Amino acid sequence: MIPSFTTIKELVDKLARKEVTPTEITQHYVQRIKQHDPSLQSILEIFEPTNDITGNLQGPLAGIPFVVKDNICQKGKLATAGSCILKNYRASYNATVINKLHSAGAYSIGRANCDEFAMGSSGETSAWGPTRNPWNIDHVPGGSSSGSAAAVAAGLIPFAIGTETGGSVRQPASFCGLVGMYPTYGRNSRYGLMAMTSSFDQAGALTKTVYDNALVMSCLSGQDSNDSTTIPLPAQDFTANLDGKIPQGIKIGIIKDGIAASIDPEVAAAFERAYKQLEALGAKISIIDLPSLKHGNAAYFILSRAQIASNLSRYDGSLYGNRIKQAESLEQMYEKTRWEGFGQEVKTRILTGNFVLSAGHKDAYYNKALHVRSMINAEFEATFADVDLLISPTVPTLPFKLGQFSGDPVSMYLADCFTVVNCVIGTPALSIPCGYSKSGLPIGFQFLGPRLSEALLYKVAYAFEQNNDYHLNHPKAYE
Ligand code: GLN
Repeated sequence: MIPSFTTIKELVDKLARKEVTPTEITQHYVQRIKQHDPSLQSILEIFEPTNDITGNLQGPLAGIPFVVKDNICQKGKLATAGSCILKNYRASYNATVINKLHSAGAYSIGRANCDEFAMGSSGETSAWGPTRNPWNIDHVPGGSSSGSAAAVAAGLIPFAIGTETGGSVRQPASFCGLVGMYPTYGRNSRYGLMAMTSSFDQAGALTKTVYDNALVMSCLSGQDSNDSTTIPLPAQDFTANLDGKIPQGIKIGIIKDGIAASIDPEVAAAFERAYKQLEALGAKISIIDLPSLKHGNAAYFILSRAQIASNLSRYDGSLYGNRIKQAESLEQMYEKTRWEGFGQEVKTRILTGNFVLSAGHKDAYYNKALHVRSMINAEFEATFADVDLLISPTVPTLPFKLGQFSGDPVSMYLADCFTVVNCVIGTPALSIPCGYSKSGLPIGFQFLGPRLSEALLYKVAYAFEQNNDYHLNHPKAYE
């Protein structure tokens, strides 16, 4: 018997005790997806079980199913990145992260919905329709890894793989009451991830608990000869030091903007409870001013749009995906294919990106943003000489209502203020739950650390989690 909500760890233990078989586990989740996903639209496709998916029973994730954000290549499967332009595109190879999970014994049973080409914070830009938040279906699950987060939060799958460029794992984790990490840039391979902003993109896991997250991210980590930006380090076991204790005297800085008046009062109250608790557990807490943080959004905006414009130039009907054939010239074929294939958000970003890169504007925007990036990096490095970790709310607001920002994308971009800044400089951050609003919507906060500090982030977050019971709550409608 598999309960509606279980962790990876519980499933691994049940398998070891032979209380369940991998086939029963698969059937259980396929059945839950069929029963519950119509209200959420988190899953775009279920792969009906075949022989090869239960083949490998070796490894730390042996027998555990997962789903994959639709912008990650799974050999022979559709990979649309939530976009019409790729609606019939099938991947010809596996992303490295998929191969690594298979070697660890896990198997993919489907594709998860996402914002188009991972551009968005709400799941609403998917060409296949919005995903909803299982805690309240009038609200968004966050984005862009919207389906990955909603599926795990509703207990439709034990874990899901997302991608993050500026919050797309942590923000939906926060909105759905889950754990999500952006690892150090280069910790994981990007081979087989559809590029959005190549110098920030990383894959990450969405899980119910800190331990599960550490376990999956350990399996994903390590150098890859197919991605020259991976760090020359072997895989690391992030579960090794999870003992439930906070290193006594550890210095944790509260980012000053994280306690500003502009933070939603319910988010502020949950965050205050969290840092007081960390203090009671033995951390030395101080308030840290990071003046460069206010430039994070602008730097992210320029750098991401520029890379989006160049990365997405490959989708023109000649190599991948759809081609509009009724055209009088090659140029018109490109134009029609791109105009009909891309949604509004993607087109806007391509236009902005080409603008900031164009002659006469490159110095004013792109090169200036690179300077700002160096400034942010210098400030974070100096700060991490004084404190071991930083904390802030993951998002300054509660989960948005569907359509709340439909006429005001800039306000939605601004709500990414705490999640874009570390991605711009490639340093890791981990979001975990720290409470609920009065209306029952999840609230998260995040730990930020210097390069390669993942093990410490997990250790402190695990201790916090073990002193709370947020990870034991589930959205009632899916029990
Ligand atoms: N919400 C951010 C954006 O829209 C981040 C996206 C991401 O991390 N892929 O750009």
